[in-house]
Amino acid sequence: MVEPDPKKQEEKMEYNPDEHSLQCPKCGHGMEEVIYDDIVIDRCTHCVGLWFDADEAYDLKSKPGSEAVDTGDPGEGQKWDSRVDINCPRCGKKMEKTADPKQIHIWYESCSDHGMFMDAGEFTDFKQESLLDFFRGLIKGKRSRVAP
Ligand SMILES: [Zn+2]
Ligand SMILES: [Zn+2]
Repeated sequence: MVEPDPKKQEEKMEYNPDEHSLQCPKCGHGMEEVIYDDIVIDRCTHCVGLWFDADEAYDLKSKPGSEAVDTGDPGEGQKWDSRVDINCPRCGKKMEKTADPKQIHIWYESCSDHGMFMDAGEFTDFKQESLLDFFRGLIKGKRSRVAP
């Protein structure tokens, strides 16, 4: 059995346009495509952050089980969270740190023209809100029926 060569492993993560779909705006390593249902997103091979084109994050959020794409360790994601000076991997413009309008504790980087980047663990967090909202909606619905 051949021991995995850490140097080779490192080279594999190093951004290479022939192998990777995008260069990670956070850590500069290569990102690879991950397909969930019919939605294709990009996931970093190193920091495991996720890139969503346009409204993919919202489309993916509505799919049951889609948090499976967020395989990174949230602790690792938090390490990268403080790096805010990042550029859009599509156009190179500086991305804006944006708080989610529904969950202001979640911050992600966004390019108004191209999409958004979330650190490892953030998509799972982002997604949970829809469930919470769903239950809140149920409770509200019940109350209004009891006291119209
Ligand atoms: Zn990365
Ligand atoms: Zn852009």
